[in-house]
Amino acid sequence: MQHIENYINGELVAAHSKRSLHNVEPATGEAYSTTPDSDERDVGDAVRAAQGAFENWRLTPASERSCQLLRIADLIERDLDVLAEAESRDNGKPVSLARAVDIPRAAANFRFFATAILHDRSDAHITDTRAINYTLRRARGVAGLISPWNLPLYLLTWKIAPALATGNTAVAKPSEITPMTAYLLSKICIEAGLPPGVLNIVHGTGPSAGSPLVAHPDVPAISFTGGTTTGATIARIAAPMFKKLSLELGGKNPTVVFGDVDLDRILPELVRASFANQGQICLCGSRILVERTLYEQFVDRFVDAVQALAVGDPTDPETQQGALVSRSQLEKVKSYVELARDEGGRIRCGGHAPSDLPARCREGFFFLPTVVTDLAPDCRVQQEEIFGPVVTISPFDSESEAIDLANGTAYGLAASIWTHDLDRAHRVGAAVDAGVVWINCWLLRDLRTPFGGMKQSGVGREGGDEALRFFTEPQNICVHTP
Ligand code: NDP
Repeated sequence: MQHIENYINGELVAAHSKRSLHNVEPATGEAYSTTPDSDERDVGDAVRAAQGAFENWRLTPASERSCQLLRIADLIERDLDVLAEAESRDNGKPVSLARAVDIPRAAANFRFFATAILHDRSDAHITDTRAINYTLRRARGVAGLISPWNLPLYLLTWKIAPALATGNTAVAKPSEITPMTAYLLSKICIEAGLPPGVLNIVHGTGPSAGSPLVAHPDVPAISFTGGTTTGATIARIAAPMFKKLSLELGGKNPTVVFGDVDLDRILPELVRASFANQGQICLCGSRILVERTLYEQFVDRFVDAVQALAVGDPTDPETQQGALVSRSQLEKVKSYVELARDEGGRIRCGGHAPSDLPARCREGFFFLPTVVTDLAPDCRVQQEEIFGPVVTISPFDSESEAIDLANGTAYGLAASIWTHDLDRAHRVGAAVDAGVVWINCWLLRDLRTPFGGMKQSGVGREGGDEALRFFTEPQNICVHTP
């Protein structure tokens, strides 16, 4: 069994507690590695190391910081196959998805911010003939970075890269459910020659390792991606300490399909938008709203396409749907399908575990992609985030009803709108309460654009300039020019 270690001050070390947690492979339900069960002592060590490295790293020229981060990107790309297999095993996602999306994006995150800092500019304001103001942007210090299990390396590096690029040092806490690729990243950082303490990775549970990181007085900035309830807990701790806070939280994203679409062309994309990574992407569309003229035909065609998805061993390159990340996630999904039945929903496909899994996967956390119709918009299944392979489909009669339904939850992370009518696309896009709106596409990401949610989907934005701003403190210098 492989033993994962913390990465503190440039070294791989065990947790103070000497305890470890079992890391389970979702496809088999068996533990295959151990993770350090870290606590506030490990977090304290990591913060001290990050503080110790801060001054030198902050003063390192941007071009050198950039080279360091580009080296890490190169090594991620070199190790693409190893990392993709590790992520698939750790998370249950199809290896093809990890290879095509997660790992390339992790390298791209480093490349993007490593080069962005080379082109950064600051503002100057001339106050008539009396003064020149210019804005310095100072690194904040030690950044606390907490990420979830669904896109483990992709989301962790989306935080690490801008934090380090802008001259901060960091303590990262990956989800204890999927620690493996973060561990491999720490080995890559050692190989790349990243100075000790610049990045520290502490493994462990949210309460025992995440919470002390959030509460640590020497960590002035917290970037968190995860569930809305956890986000609220973190905000309660961090806000009275006046920490800079970014919260990327849950979603219940609408997919709005108007009657004028070319169904043949968009159907594969709609299936992907609903079920990629078994629906465990915060941006997946989990509520499909379809114009009534197309509704019956849409449901039939969509269900056929969903039933054709290959569910199986995530390590098989042909697999399109792997395992859910954990037993508790599987139980949660099952309970929502039961609830859908109780709430009067019609299960059009799925609704149970697959019966034809390979022997290796019989105890794994699998659930068939599930489509539910006939649910009222205000029922719990249409309101609460399930974060699994369950989508609902509901009809609408007018553009305004589509907008009302799209906006009718507490969340506002993402939406997609499908129509050939350009005027309508822009109108509806601007009326939908979502931080990210895709029109006739899904998950097409330009890393320069602001990313984040409205309403209970979060506070703050990541990506491009937003991330560079989040991790730096603006300081205005006013020079009198008599
Ligand atoms: P959680 O909120 O349970 O956990 C996220 C991270 O926070 C994990 O590392 C977790 O550790 C840690 N954590 C848990 N409790 C605390 C605490 N009290 N203090 C500090 N850290 C803590 O989310 P999940 O991991 O279950 O991820 C799924 C959620 O993430 C979904 O709601 C999804 O929508 C959301 N998400 C949002 C995205 C966005 O960009 N808006 C993107 C991806 C996911 P551990 O796991 O070890 O307990």
